[in-house]
Amino acid sequence: MKIYDYIIVGGGISGSATAFELSHYTKNILLIDKLEEVAKGASGAAGAFLSPLLGKPNNFKDLITHSLPYAVEFYKKYTPDCIDNCGTIRIPKDTIDQEKFQSYIPYMDFPFEEKEDGYFFPIGSVVNSGEICRLLTKDIEKLFNLEITTITYQDDIWILNNSVKTKKLILATGANLSLLNEHYIDIRAVWGQRIDIETTTKVETNYHKECSVSRSIQLEKNLYQVSIGATHNRFEIDREVSEEDTKELLEKASDILKLENINVIKLHGGARAGSSDYFPIVGTLINSAKTIEKFPYLKNGTHVDHSRFERYENLYIINGVGGRGFVLAPYLAKQLVNHLIKNEAIDPQIIPDRLFTRWVKKQ
Ligand SMILES: Cc1cc2nc3c(=O)[nH]c(=O)nc-3n(C[C@H](O)[C@H](O)[C@H](O)COP(=O)(O)OP(=O)(O)OC[C@H]3O[C@@H](n4cnc5c(N)ncnc54)[C@H](O)[C@@H]3O)c2cc1C
Repeated sequence: MKIYDYIIVGGGISGSATAFELSHYTKNILLIDKLEEVAKGASGAAGAFLSPLLGKPNNFKDLITHSLPYAVEFYKKYTPDCIDNCGTIRIPKDTIDQEKFQSYIPYMDFPFEEKEDGYFFPIGSVVNSGEICRLLTKDIEKLFNLEITTITYQDDIWILNNSVKTKKLILATGANLSLLNEHYIDIRAVWGQRIDIETTTKVETNYHKECSVSRSIQLEKNLYQVSIGATHNRFEIDREVSEEDTKELLEKASDILKLENINVIKLHGGARAGSSDYFPIVGTLINSAKTIEKFPYLKNGTHVDHSRFERYENLYIINGVGGRGFVLAPYLAKQLVNHLIKNEAIDPQIIPDRLFTRWVKKQ
């Protein structure tokens, strides 16, 4: 039976961007998803809006500031028909928000100017999320409708569902962590909905206030398509919640601009996967049981150099991209692939180690 160099489980933007980066080095890659196509999970639901993070300086903001221009250039280069870099007007929602915005001005990482009732950021973009995943993986071998339920490591080979084999395995499974029995990888799901509408109103740019409204795409004379996103729920969305979410999005959008003759044409729902500290999770996985067995005093907070931790061989993760997967994934995938191929170090803020060292002290 064929043994792949890499299998990636999960065909969202994290898995698709990783597969794409890896394909520069080997063609012996398989991308697996339990659904019928790429981008049928959260990645198909995303707006997907790319916008700066505003605020006082902090490490997470720095990560977004690095990832955002990287993502914009990446999509322009590899999927130019799927990105509209028309800019975004960020509108403060009230006077408190307006004051906050003013206080952030010294720390703005991107050019902006006052426009309409808010601030226009030329870097703001909207992308066609599903099409991006399809284009990035068009030359990758794919297996759909296959849910991976077991992974075992034997003789330097990972075996999935007792059948598919690979030398290296990458888990990009979003909110589904069932393949990993490691409690320090703490992913929280936040469900949400975006809607696509038809309207007779032409929208000239992207807006963000309490929701995001995309620049319109012309469908026919005097008829346009606009995306509005997104809601946030701590529970899975059923029909009733979906109707409420649609109402909420339409109300919030009408607070930004008047959209005439609206017809809701499509609802997209999905679960964002965020880590407990909001940073993504990228890199090699620590085997917690073996590491604790070797260094039991880790539980008392004793420092052990991370290079001595026991790790799962040839098993990697790219996850925890939360509500900004389309901003983060290209940059993260590049880091993961540079690590896999060139043994370059991954940004210490995003490797799983920090979650393990925090978790182990509580055991
Ligand atoms: C409503 C909504 C709006 C959003 N808007 C934006 C936005 O404007 N901008 C932005 O940047 N981000 C946005 N996001 C966030 C973005 O969608 C996510 O961050 C991103 O899609 C996560 O990608 P992923 O590849 O990590 O996970 P996913 O897209 O969820 O992909 C995981 C894949 O793994 C597959 N899978 C899981 N387990 C298994 C298994 N055992 N076997 C086989 N396959 C498996 C799933 O089927 C799924 O396809 C939004 C999200 C939502 C829900």
